[in-house]
Amino acid sequence: MTGSARFKIVHKVSGGGEEYATVHQRGCTVDSGERRWIDAHEAWVALSDGVPGCAYCRPDDVLGFDDD
Ligand SMILES: [Zn+2]
Repeated sequence: MTGSARFKIVHKVSGGGEEYATVHQRGCTVDSGERRWIDAHEAWVALSDGVPGCAYCRPDDVLGFDDD
């Protein structure tokens, strides 16, 4: 974990064995799973690539995404 890592990607495996990822703010505890710490730019790129942002900590709001 580095000082610039304000976000994280959490990888989870669903009940059906399907792997998926979500983007979170650093302090979010909603999802547990394999974590990868990322900085704001990496979080932005992930969201741009279609990785969903967490509905609770709303990393997309923090990064200025406006997809409504
Ligand atoms: Zn979250």
